[in-house]
Amino acid sequence: MQKVIGIDLGGTKINGGVVDEEGNILKKLRVDTQSKAGREIVLENIKNLIKELIKDEKIEGIGLGSPGFIDTDKGRVVYNGGNIENWAGVYIKEELSREFDNIPVHVENDANVALICEEWVGAGKGLDTIVMITLGTGVGGGIWSKTQGIWHGNNYQGAELGHSILYPMGRQCNCGQKGCVEQYISGRGIEKTYFQKTGKNLKGVEIFKNREKDKICNEVVEIFIRDLSIFLVSIKNIFDPEGLIIGGGVINSREYWWKDMLKYYKSYCNAPIGMKILPAKYLNDAGVIGAGKLAFDNIL
Ligand SMILES: [Zn+2]
Repeated sequence: MQKVIGIDLGGTKINGGVVDEEGNILKKLRVDTQSKAGREIVLENIKNLIKELIKDEKIEGIGLGSPGFIDTDKGRVVYNGGNIENWAGVYIKEELSREFDNIPVHVENDANVALICEEWVGAGKGLDTIVMITLGTGVGGGIWSKTQGIWHGNNYQGAELGHSILYPMGRQCNCGQKGCVEQYISGRGIEKTYFQKTGKNLKGVEIFKNREKDKICNEVVEIFIRDLSIFLVSIKNIFDPEGLIIGGGVINSREYWWKDMLKYYKSYCNAPIGMKILPAKYLNDAGVIGAGKLAFDNIL
């Protein structure tokens, strides 16, 4: 069976793994990104991680998911490098190809990589059209169809669903706009809503957990659920996909909001039928498995 390396580059950690043709992770490693240290150090950390994974293995390809807008032809980060310092402009593919000269390298946006994983072995298996949103520190988006694959857009800036505007002139977003979805339904967004109401900081997980016993926490969760449901209505009306997959860390708290979300979605949407709303199957490993699939797709 052939083996590839999948790398999931995040703002805090770099996860890497040896992945087989069935989507199993055979070996796994994790190091700090050191994203504040700048691109040279981050690249060095990626290379060292790959060197460690490659030891005693026959590897056919390398796939990598990175934050930011990714020119997938050149394997380059364009314009926006997410939350890694000075990351925009890096030629990831070129850098890695130079280091590992006989192994093909392919690079993709991290949210797209998570979608590729779900489509391959996760919640989206067997579906023809999928839209995925990831509710993590920020809100990522991905659009995929069986016939066309990943939707990249004309400038590799397509599917940035987290930067749809939910509240006109609302909270300032890191992207420069105001009122983006990401500022409300991400983990940080929920924490901001709580802070606005109380002047205090509380972790998103705690806000969800305290929903039943704390009035303010309940209000914050209610706002989150309504905002998310409105967002789902827009997705349904724009894309009408067969499946809408929700991933990201916030999904770990779904026992506190999933049922209510479906209820609100149904009451807000003109035609709520026909779009399956599914929780992602893979959370922490999605980036590594999806990057592995990316590598396989480009060698076969
Ligand atoms: Zn934004």
